[in-house]
Amino acid sequence: MTEARTTGLRAAMAGIGLDGLVITKRENIRYLSGFTGSSAVAVVTGDQGTLITDGRYREQAALEAQSWEVVIYSKDLMGAVAEALGDAASVGLEDSTTLAFRKRLAGALGDTGLETTEGLVERLRTIKEPGELEAIRGAVACAHQAWETLLPMLQPGVSERQLAAGLDYRMMSAGAEKPAFDTVVASGPNSSMPHAGITDRVLVAGDLVVIDFGALKDGYCCDITRTVCLGEPDDRSREVLEAVLQAWDAAYAKLEVGVPVADADRAAREKLAELGLAEYFVHSLGHGVGLEVHEKPTLSQLSQETLEPGMVFTVEPGVYIEGSMGVRHEETVALFEAGAEILSRDITF
Ligand code: ZN
Ligand code: ZN
Repeated sequence: MTEARTTGLRAAMAGIGLDGLVITKRENIRYLSGFTGSSAVAVVTGDQGTLITDGRYREQAALEAQSWEVVIYSKDLMGAVAEALGDAASVGLEDSTTLAFRKRLAGALGDTGLETTEGLVERLRTIKEPGELEAIRGAVACAHQAWETLLPMLQPGVSERQLAAGLDYRMMSAGAEKPAFDTVVASGPNSSMPHAGITDRVLVAGDLVVIDFGALKDGYCCDITRTVCLGEPDDRSREVLEAVLQAWDAAYAKLEVGVPVADADRAAREKLAELGLAEYFVHSLGHGVGLEVHEKPTLSQLSQETLEPGMVFTVEPGVYIEGSMGVRHEETVALFEAGAEILSRDITF
């Protein structure tokens, strides 16, 4: 499985004239080699994949990265990287690599050209294989189970922090490795901040509560937001809740293979404009989901990308009225030749 990924990467490297690529991003290393440890460098050349790690991971690396040459270094990491690169004349380094690493590598490589690459592995990762999709479905199942058992707790008198802890605990009890990101519970006036941190605010009747959560399972994430009203929403809250769902539907209706992702973003924005709420939608429509909770493609007005079968991403329009209220609705969606599927559709209230 991972061999095909490395082959795809080599084609991308050849396309920009690279003989070697040094990979430091953990998710990219995992994607290519299968190694799940937290400390390694991967080097890909025209004919070899080398995983360089330290003695703590000797056994794990041999088990997980079976088709890779595993090198255990003790003191000279950059020397091991240079050796793995062999006679590669044009070497790429990911733009996410730290400046300190780049400086040390440049020192070890001497005159070898060091190019900064953008999204070479990330681009491959946008198209999920069946096994990756299954892992994401597994993450959604953990989030779903957590949500169902959390619902009885969603009452006046409970705090944001208690709800977030309740969700995290339940996701892990359901088999998640951990939450995919810091769970957001933003209630009442706090809901107007799209990425509010949790507070000790205690929920009261009539509150809108934005709950943004996701599980990490088998290395893969899901990302879901529900906005719940405690009791009957007032007229304004009802209007905004309905508007966001309409914007969500408008975006979803655009999701087809071959459509520019910017069109989906625009559809949600136009719907909110019709309803007089466009100025309150302050972020992009969504983002890819996989080994990272935010990855390519970015579903925004500026995006040049086109929807392709195998992509998994969020659709998450929101309306945030400062000092007053916020509403967001987010689903994790997979796209197939035949159309889109909402992976998180069963998470309801
Ligand atoms: Zn989210
Ligand atoms: Zn999201």
